[in-house]
Amino acid sequence: MKIRILTSSSSGNCILLWDNTSSCIVDCGCSVSYAKRHLLDNNISFSSLNGACITHVHRDHINPIFFRALLKQNVPVFCSTTAHPYLPTHSPATNLSVVTYAPFVPFFVGTMKITPFPVTHDSPGGCCGFSIEVNAKRKMRKITIATDIGKIEPATADYFTNSDIVIIESNHDIAMLASDSIPQFLKTRIRTSHLSNDECAEILEKALQKSTIKPEAIILAHISTDRNSKTLARQCIGDRLRRIGHESIPLIVSHDHCAGEIVELH
Ligand SMILES: [Zn+2]
Ligand SMILES: [Zn+2]
Repeated sequence: MKIRILTSSSSGNCILLWDNTSSCIVDCGCSVSYAKRHLLDNNISFSSLNGACITHVHRDHINPIFFRALLKQNVPVFCSTTAHPYLPTHSPATNLSVVTYAPFVPFFVGTMKITPFPVTHDSPGGCCGFSIEVNAKRKMRKITIATDIGKIEPATADYFTNSDIVIIESNHDIAMLASDSIPQFLKTRIRTSHLSNDECAEILEKALQKSTIKPEAIILAHISTDRNSKTLARQCIGDRLRRIGHESIPLIVSHDHCAGEIVELH
């Protein structure tokens, strides 16, 4: 099983997961040509995708043209029952390819077992992260993805426990956000709908303390280009991992409109 973040930021999100039998994307918030180019780079054709799982309907996660192109190619698009009314417009004929999911009810994309979990991120119809179970090298493995989280709830860290790969948002640096010139209401919105680097570190610490296995990689996603930097995010989370004795876990940062490294489950 391989995982590659094709892009992740407030201007676009798309994550590719694939093995010899199945391929899937999480979110389609970039251009079709950009996604197609990166799928082909990894020998995957657009129409052969087994599914596209949508976390929520913000435009950085669902580009209407990309969404309609998936439906046109009969690629099943999975979205939550509550977010379904907020999907971009599409023809009634292609609606057959939209499959709804409910939190905590697993569904399959190819051989990948996907369990959605709710997060508080403010999006019409709600937002979910995904726990993805795959059989890699004859072992069941778990990949946890949540790129837009919001306020931390008691269960948030639990979703990330015992993951082999963690993809988690590390959106902003609190000091950079505080000194930004944007209006106060926007600052409040960012504080309540996205995780700061410190909050990301807090969730990871709790999850790792409860875990009986060690992740093969932690990937930091949705890093703000204006109110954070890859260096700051890496430093904050890296410091916390060191403090709790987990500095050996590879820490990877995602990029804005530039595909990241391929992470393969060993
Ligand atoms: Zn987003
Ligand atoms: Zn969002």
